[in-house]
Amino acid sequence: MSVRTGVALLGATGSIGETTQRVVERHPERFHFVALTANGNREGLTAAVARWMPRYVGLVQDGGAALPAGWGRGTQCLVEAAQHPEVDTVVNAVVGAAGLEATLAALRAGKRVALANKESLVVGGALVARAVRQGRGEVIPVDSEHSALLQCAAGRVAPIPRGAAAGAGLLPLRGVSRMIITASGGPFRTWSREQIAGAQLTDALNHPTWAMGRKITIDSASLANKALEVIEAHVLFGIPYDRIEVVVHPQSIVHSMLEFEDGSVLAQMGVPSMELPVLYALGYPDRIADGGVPRFDPVASSPLTFEAVRHDAFPTLGLGIAAGRQGGAAPAVFNAANEVAVARVLDGSLPFARIPAAIDHALSAVGDRPGDDLPALLAADAAARSLVQEFR
Ligand code: NAD
Ligand code: MG
Repeated sequence: MSVRTGVALLGATGSIGETTQRVVERHPERFHFVALTANGNREGLTAAVARWMPRYVGLVQDGGAALPAGWGRGTQCLVEAAQHPEVDTVVNAVVGAAGLEATLAALRAGKRVALANKESLVVGGALVARAVRQGRGEVIPVDSEHSALLQCAAGRVAPIPRGAAAGAGLLPLRGVSRMIITASGGPFRTWSREQIAGAQLTDALNHPTWAMGRKITIDSASLANKALEVIEAHVLFGIPYDRIEVVVHPQSIVHSMLEFEDGSVLAQMGVPSMELPVLYALGYPDRIADGGVPRFDPVASSPLTFEAVRHDAFPTLGLGIAAGRQGGAAPAVFNAANEVAVARVLDGSLPFARIPAAIDHALSAVGDRPGDDLPALLAADAAARSLVQEFR
């Protein structure tokens, strides 16, 4: 009998996808890939398939070309990979709201979801909570801040009470009074509002501490990423918004902090690398010995500094947190508006500095829609996308 964990890797060709392949490669006795998917990068997927020989392969956008026998195609392939009977853990490393349905499908099939795709929780937090309560699945965060919070909380995750409301969280924590989420501040941390108004795409893509996919890199420059992460923390851990704080920490060594009821604060630290959060989510609650994760040197990393967020220069953070507090479809609208704004920044049709205005426009128009079920959320998402597509 195999004791190895069968892994489905959705988004195998991306930044987190490649990190996950590196981590699994070091632990062949613990993990093996059962399923791999990619969006349109056929070459990258073919190389990963040759390396891992998975049972299931899916390419979402085949461009009309013939695919090797047995490959799945279309968005349905994400669900097929996530629900494959030999899969125990689904690493969701897809970017954007496109990852939500696979998260839900995996949970309904009783899988662990090692979740990098934070947009799943922002768009469909209540639906994900319902799927966790109804099935035997669970969500373990891969995002470094949320992995840090979970590591600080080790041993204090409470079982979800039967019949709990969606707001109770997916990993409810006992005895926690405050979460302090760190933000690198991105490339514009020290720029004035006037300088940011003239920022170019190449400036926004020049992240000081993390090498990541292009969408999250832009999100880190606008602090939209931190807004998504505050909502993610609220959905994951069931902590009210007024007990989640954001602090700028330019060195990206302290990945987040947890304050307990007695005032004690625990921080999780390490060199900025996604290998540890991926490994931790795969092995949770165990720690798996791993010589490949880069080691921390306190002297080389010093000094460690902390600064307040400059909300006037980064209004996207406040817009996102307000959308999270508002609830309903507002977080989904925030996310969809941001996705389209970022795509337009990347294709040169919207200046970086216009991202918050584009999001505000969508939130004002359709942010108060209900978000009770998937069709309602997808409708709000689509409305926000078309508004921002036309935004001038
Ligand atoms: P990326 O752009 O490098 O990779 C995205 C992957 O998803 C690719 O394999 C791509 O083929 C696939 N994909 C893209 N659009 C898709 C779609 N519509 N349907 C199906 N598959 C699709 O992105 P990334 O940086 O690896 O980020 C992935 C997710 O992880 C994002 O939600 C991001 O916020 C989160 N995350 C990333 C990092 C990081 O260090 N890169 C850190 C924390 C969280
Ligand atoms: Mg993060």
